[in-house]
Amino acid sequence: MADPTEEQLDPADVYARELTNFAEALHVLHVDRGSPSYRAVSAAAETAGRVSLSSSAISEAFSGKRLPSLDFTLELVRQLAGPDQEVREDWRERWKRVKLCQRQSVARRRQSKPQHETGHSTQRGPLDSGRAALSAVRLEAERIIQAAQAEAETIIESARIRADEMTASATQMLLDATERGTIPVAERLRLREHTRIALAGPPGSGKGTQSPFLSKLLEVPFIHLGELYRSNIAGRTPVGKVVYGYMNRGELVPDEVMLEMLADRLRAPDTQHGFILDGLPRNLNQAIAVDDLLSATSEGIEAVLNFDISRDESFRRVIGRRVCKNDSSHLAHVTYATPQKYGRCDVCGGPLYTREDDSRDVVAKRWDVWKSMTEPVVQKYGAEGRLVTVSGIGPVSSVTERALTALNAYFG
Ligand SMILES: [Zn+2]
Repeated sequence: MADPTEEQLDPADVYARELTNFAEALHVLHVDRGSPSYRAVSAAAETAGRVSLSSSAISEAFSGKRLPSLDFTLELVRQLAGPDQEVREDWRERWKRVKLCQRQSVARRRQSKPQHETGHSTQRGPLDSGRAALSAVRLEAERIIQAAQAEAETIIESARIRADEMTASATQMLLDATERGTIPVAERLRLREHTRIALAGPPGSGKGTQSPFLSKLLEVPFIHLGELYRSNIAGRTPVGKVVYGYMNRGELVPDEVMLEMLADRLRAPDTQHGFILDGLPRNLNQAIAVDDLLSATSEGIEAVLNFDISRDESFRRVIGRRVCKNDSSHLAHVTYATPQKYGRCDVCGGPLYTREDDSRDVVAKRWDVWKSMTEPVVQKYGAEGRLVTVSGIGPVSSVTERALTALNAYFG
């Protein structure tokens, strides 16, 4: 035991050395990738919505004070080096090596403790053997728990990778199918001179997901109120400046201003064969005003397409939702449409984020607003015989097909 080479190979020292090397390698990776700020890395990971990488935890991982979890390590590496599988596997192996050293170090520490105790109390034989047996059982239990945890981490990680691959290929198939126009009823609808519809439904009912597909298949543009606000403000249009004024003062934008903006948009030539209004009208007053506006310039909304889902399903969907910073029509979902690259838009590669609107308490408020303000609008269109309701449950392509079939039947 007193042999100096044995001393050097003390598991605690080996672990300390391995941990330092590991932390240094992480740090080198960070420097190699241009040393992005911890805050930027943390924000990108938050967008990916998998593992939280706080600035202080990143700093700790680089300092080598302790071994970060496998999840943390892989997410940090992903943020620094991208989703390359080989790099990932390499870091998983590195992490396992350090973890093994850590376990050996912990095991040695536990083993050496009872030995000291027995050394001091050789007289109490029966008690000692009882204590030794107890600590042996405890050690064995610890070992089993640690082994199970390591095994579980590996299983979860490979399940995630598999799920990501499946979702990515399914999304691609869906886009390909849409491209080829495999939904035959769409062809009949395209023959109509114009199609003017508005989409309705509670938060998370799929309006935003469906609108680009419906727009593509029906060959009419979709108009989203939030997008209209943003583009008018960004383009510094006259109405955009007015809207900006209200927002800057923290005031609600009046319906008249919203309608002026919408009227502007409807004068654009791409709406001559119709349009899909997404998220409009939101309350009875707006519905009446929009009808007035449209009947003055065209022939009004022909049908409101209402996607029906339960309150539970609404919550499940909205809270997992992510939106692309470049284009709010690029959507992803942590469970239903996991992006191919974590935190990155599948369409354009832009960063994904969670809208403030999609947080749990905001969703509860939005559901109440939908029930009290917007559902009466749906009922109004229903009473006027201009309502088409379909179930919003199921895969995106099934809902699209269901919606087109229902519209086709409605228009006859
Ligand atoms: Zn995008």
